[in-house]
Amino acid sequence: MSDVNEVVIVGSGPAGYTAAIYAGRAQLKPVIYEGSVTAGGALMNTTEVENFPGFATGVMGPELMESMRKQVERFGAKIITDDIVLVKLTGEIKELTDGSGNTVKAKSVILAMGSAYKEIGLPNEKRLSGRGVSWCATCDGFFFRDQVIAVVGGGDSAMEEAIFLTKFASEVVLIHRRDKFRASKIMIERAEKNPKIEFLFNHEVIDVLGDDKVSGLKLKNTLTAQEVVKDFTGLFVAIGHLPRSELLVGQLELNTDGYVQVEGRSTKTQIPGVFACGDLVDFTYRQAITAAGTGCQAALDAERFLSGH
Ligand code: NAP
Repeated sequence: MSDVNEVVIVGSGPAGYTAAIYAGRAQLKPVIYEGSVTAGGALMNTTEVENFPGFATGVMGPELMESMRKQVERFGAKIITDDIVLVKLTGEIKELTDGSGNTVKAKSVILAMGSAYKEIGLPNEKRLSGRGVSWCATCDGFFFRDQVIAVVGGGDSAMEEAIFLTKFASEVVLIHRRDKFRASKIMIERAEKNPKIEFLFNHEVIDVLGDDKVSGLKLKNTLTAQEVVKDFTGLFVAIGHLPRSELLVGQLELNTDGYVQVEGRSTKTQIPGVFACGDLVDFTYRQAITAAGTGCQAALDAERFLSGH
């Protein structure tokens, strides 16, 4: 049984890293798969995080994640920079296969794969992705200097993206399908105060125009159904996220939106020894701090499970 780990953690956002810190400190020698390209999770694509407790003057998302990673290393977790591509979660010994074809065994597994950007679902959105269509202002904003760009969405992400993009763009039009934002008051106020941001309410994007790069958007008024074409050279989609649970289909109970179901306030899934945390589970709060909190819970749940065996 020496090649069987006590706990393997999949995912490296605040949930995965926190689970690894707790499991490491509990001497469980955790193995954490941090992903081949996306180590650190969604916060790696964020700018300043102002509301993570303990950072009175704010902290940059990537810096916060780098710091969590160092803390993971300090408590002896084995960090593997690869993706898990296959899982076999049933039975006492779980098996996980990584992108390089290696299989790792574990008595318990903590799933913390987070979520991925949601797409509008238009054929031309996909075709022009990387050619004017983007999901990440901090990654791509630089390419839109002095241009007029659109941001779609009405939540905090849309506000954050729009505000960040005003560093580069000459004008940012925030397009929302309703007349009321879902974002927090403080973020709405910041966007409203920014002279480069225009708001276009009650409109949805029904097509992305352009041959080899974005030249405009076809919009539809959600109240009157009237269609209009507007010129833009960029489209930033900030309409939320979807849980990254593809790996788990057929093995674990997922809700209709693909989130992993857990038992009550715990992180226990319906398979003994398999725990889930962070944005993979949470469709309500979805904050870095709540993800970290459930990562801690998952490690404690796994520890109790292992001590009971
Ligand atoms: P969100 O809160 O779920 O908002 C998604 C927005 O996109 C909603 O306004 C929604 O419209 C719109 N939308 C969804 N599907 C759409 C579609 N197909 N076409 C057009 N619009 C669509 O997602 P989020 O903004 O990514 O935020 C997720 C969580 O992270 C939230 O809890 C948020 O507070 C947090 N967050 C916090 C910060 C911060 O504090 N700085 C920054 C980013 C994110 P409806 O309103 O009509 O549903």
